[in-house]
Amino acid sequence: MNKNVERTLILFKPDSVQRALVGEILTRFERVGLRIVGTKMQAPAREHYEAHYEDIGKLKTRAGEQIFGITLDMMNKGPVIAMVLEGVEAVSLVRKLVGGTEPKSAAPGTIRGDFSHMSYGYADGEGKGIPNLIHASGDPEEAVQEIKHWFSDDELYDYEATHEKFTR
Ligand code: ADP
Repeated sequence: MNKNVERTLILFKPDSVQRALVGEILTRFERVGLRIVGTKMQAPAREHYEAHYEDIGKLKTRAGEQIFGITLDMMNKGPVIAMVLEGVEAVSLVRKLVGGTEPKSAAPGTIRGDFSHMSYGYADGEGKGIPNLIHASGDPEEAVQEIKHWFSDDELYDYEATHEKFTR
């Protein structure tokens, strides 16, 4: 595989599943030519998210115990759809499509900018995590760890994507 071809993990968070936005959001990833290599719906235990957000993502270290706790509460509000996407520099491409963490300041045209508008100030006042629709791996190293955390090798598939003679 060309070294510029990467795999990245995304999660449709409980808010995008419950708002029935999965199809509309997934279209954005498919239409740029990203390939789905694995997907499943899951409602993992809190410990799974502790490992995802701290052992790998270092959220508690970066943002503190309180933000960490409310983020886990939010993720436990329902099932998520986990997915592995593959494409040319897919990790940074997907982050660009997803947009900044705070919906209020996420650029228009990004998923978070187009489908949500909550601010840090409001979320902090309510004492709740920011429901910003999608999680996406932050860098290639994190992507490798997150994919391993969510998927076994036999849940990831190789197949012919007919558009790839044009998209990669
Ligand atoms: P990102 O998801 O953009 O990579 P982080 O890894 O920093 O951002 O944070 C993980 C998730 O934790 C965010 O997507 C958001 O749902 C939640 N979160 C982060 N910071 C805050 C905050 N200050 N208030 C509420 N929720 C937050």
